[in-house]
Amino acid sequence: MSDTIEKVKCLIIGSGPAGYTAAIYAARANMKPVLYQGTQPGGQLTTTNEVENFPGYPDGITGPEMMMELQKQAERFETDVRNGWITKVDFSGDIHKVWVNDVKEIHCDTVIISTGASAKYLGLDSEQKYLKLGGGVSACAVCDGFFYRNQEVVIVGAGDSACEEAHYLSKLCKKVTMLVRRDEFRASKIMAARVKNTENIEILFNTETDEVLGDGQVVTGVRVFNNKTSEKHEIPATGFFVAIGHKPNTDIFKGFLELDETGYIINVLGSSKTNIEGVFVSGDAADHVYRQAVTAAGTGCMAALDAERYLAAKDSTFEVSTSNYN
Ligand code: NDP
Repeated sequence: MSDTIEKVKCLIIGSGPAGYTAAIYAARANMKPVLYQGTQPGGQLTTTNEVENFPGYPDGITGPEMMMELQKQAERFETDVRNGWITKVDFSGDIHKVWVNDVKEIHCDTVIISTGASAKYLGLDSEQKYLKLGGGVSACAVCDGFFYRNQEVVIVGAGDSACEEAHYLSKLCKKVTMLVRRDEFRASKIMAARVKNTENIEILFNTETDEVLGDGQVVTGVRVFNNKTSEKHEIPATGFFVAIGHKPNTDIFKGFLELDETGYIINVLGSSKTNIEGVFVSGDAADHVYRQAVTAAGTGCMAALDAERYLAAKDSTFEVSTSNYN
C-alpha cells in the first residue's frame, strides 16, 4: 500500500440531508466520518427557496440555510467535510476503494452513498433563468406547490410523477395546464384517468414549451406550440413545474452495485444495505417514490446505524456507541 493512500472508517459521499444526517450519526458513534460534498454542496435543496415541510422549522427556512445548518451540526461532532468529487470506486474486494478527483485514493471500511438524484429540466434558457432566480420554475410540486395557492400553473410531463404532481397542484391552484408532448400519456392508466377526471386540470396533447415568459423577476406565463400544427399560443401562469423525470447520481457505481433500470440503487428492503457488504445507501439515490428531505434524512440515519453495526460485527475492538440510542 502506498503512503499516499488514506484509510477511512466511514466515507460519506454526498452533502444533502441524507449525507449530513448520516455524518451526524456516524460522528457521534465514533466512526470519524469523512464526507465529500460533490459538485453541488448541499444537494438539490440548495435550488429550493423556502422549505416549509421539514419538521422543526415552524416558520420555514430556505434550502441553502438549512443545508448550512446541517453542515454545521455535522462539523460540531467533528465530521471531516471536504470539497471534492468522487470519480471512481472499486467495491470488488474486502476493502472499498474510492478515488477523489481521479487522483486521491481512499480505502474505506464502510461507504455511505448519499449522492441523490437530479431533476431533469427542459434546458430552455428562459426556464433556467427563472429557476436560478427562484422566480416560479420548480421540479417539485410537493415542495413548492403551496406558494401557488389559488393561482394558475403549467406542468410539463406525462409520466406518473407528472400526473401525481398535477393532481396535487389541482387541489391548491385555481387551474393546472398540463403539457404532454405526445398524443398519449406514459403514466399508468389509473394515474392518467385521475388527471383527466379532474375538473381544473386542462391537458394539452402534442404540446411543447417554446418559452417560459416573465417580467425579468418572476414567471408570468408560458408560450407553447403544437408539434403537429406548429401553432403557438400563450398561457398565463405564475408557476412552471417540470416533471419529466429524475436521474439518480449513481453512474460511478455501475458494475458494482445492483441498480434498477433507471439507475436507482437497489437496497435490501427495510434497511440501507446494498448488495455489497459495508456499502450502504441513503436518500434519493435509492428512492424514486418519496424524494423528500425528511425521508432522505431518515435513511441517512439508518445508513449510519447500519454501518456502525457492520463495523462492530466485523471488528471486536470497535464498540457500538450508546449515544445514538439516547
Ligand atoms: P417517466 O420517465 O416515467 O416519465 C417522464 C415523462 O416526461 C414522460 O411522459 C416523457 O414523455 C416526459 N418528457 C421527458 N422529456 C421531456 C421533454 N423534453 N419535454 C416534454 N416531456 C418530456 O418519469 P416519472 O418521474 O414520471 O416516473 C419515474 C418512475 O417512477 C416510473 O417508473 C413511474 O412509474 C414511477 N412513479 C410511480 C409513482 C406512483 O406509482 N405513485 C409516482 C411517481 C413515479 P414521453 O412519454 O413522450 O417520453
